[in-house]
Amino acid sequence: MTAWGCALTTDKKTSIMAKQDYYELLGVSRTATADELKKAYRKLAMKHHPDKNPDDKNSEKKFKEISEAYEVLKDAQKRAAYDRMGHAAFEGGMGGNGGRAGGFNAGGFDFEASGFGNIFDDMFSEFMGGRQQQAEASLRGSDLRYNMEITLDDAFKGMKKNIKIPTNAKCETCHGSGAAKGTKPETCPTCHGQGKIRARQGFFTIERACSTCHGLGQVIKDPCKTCHGAGRVRKEKTLSVSIPAGIEDGARIRLTGEGEAGLRGGPAGDLYIFLHIKPHKLFQRDGSNIYCQVPIPMTTATLGGEIEVPAIDGHTSRVKIPEGTQSGKQFRLKGKGMSMLRSSSRGDMYIQALVETPVSLNKRQKELLEEFAGLEKKSHSSPLSEGFFAKIKDLWS
Ligand SMILES: [Zn+2]
Ligand SMILES: [Zn+2]
Repeated sequence: MTAWGCALTTDKKTSIMAKQDYYELLGVSRTATADELKKAYRKLAMKHHPDKNPDDKNSEKKFKEISEAYEVLKDAQKRAAYDRMGHAAFEGGMGGNGGRAGGFNAGGFDFEASGFGNIFDDMFSEFMGGRQQQAEASLRGSDLRYNMEITLDDAFKGMKKNIKIPTNAKCETCHGSGAAKGTKPETCPTCHGQGKIRARQGFFTIERACSTCHGLGQVIKDPCKTCHGAGRVRKEKTLSVSIPAGIEDGARIRLTGEGEAGLRGGPAGDLYIFLHIKPHKLFQRDGSNIYCQVPIPMTTATLGGEIEVPAIDGHTSRVKIPEGTQSGKQFRLKGKGMSMLRSSSRGDMYIQALVETPVSLNKRQKELLEEFAGLEKKSHSSPLSEGFFAKIKDLWS
């Protein structure tokens, strides 16, 4: 989780980030034939081959990813295991690449162990009830990430939003068995349905996941055409997410148990919603305060008056502009700012005056201003300028 940090990909409205789906990587559908897979792989492999893209780290990475995807999908058994369990099929020892697949059988005890070096740690955690947790951890579904973009108005009011996330559902064609119509999954001939193979090594017995059936205990000779033997298909599920009023940009909302489904009844992962608040056209937000720059006509700033400003709650407020207001002057509107999390109070709104210099004056307007300019010097009506030039004089003398 920590590796994700708070780096938000703002260009993608919604995306689920776990390891990328093998089918998506190759750009083929889940029903692609072996021929289609081969074609897609060859095309991508030609494009991303390291010989063609020397020193290109992205291409190298892509090449490795598509090669891994093709390695799995071209093998019917591996493909079925992948369709059934996703990437988890090849993690945590299920793929027969060692790791957690090992189990020791020594002196009548049966220890889960990741290697000889860990035997005593594992023995210890065994007694502490650690084994249960370990087994659960390896069957737990992956956490998923969902990027959500909302407006500042949504964040002010809070909202309920329905999101669609891909999930696995039982295949209707084969009723989840993975076998084609009229056939049934058969007991694996290698492990006789155990899913594991035991081998003696010294005075230990090593237990490994069966590589023929990938630990499932059954093989499918004639896979279901719809799900390719997985017994489940990708479907979208709709979740309703509550966004509390006052939520901050970059916040994460955790939906426990809404991540990827666990393996063989293992616990599901969590779904994390990463929230990004779109920049507002008028308002800048800083915590519970809202800032807004408002242009004010030169005459209003000079003579005083009232202006109307919009607030984040959709209402407008009248603000008194005192006589002689300078550009940059801030006005505070108490309680007109952002809503606060789990609170009924609101922050403040700050308005910054931007005194506007009039443009495209007509003849009469120019005459009046020229007449005004003639009087300005005598009446000392520009204190900032006078102060500034007085400082320059000091500097030079
Ligand atoms: Zn099926
Ligand atoms: Zn087997």
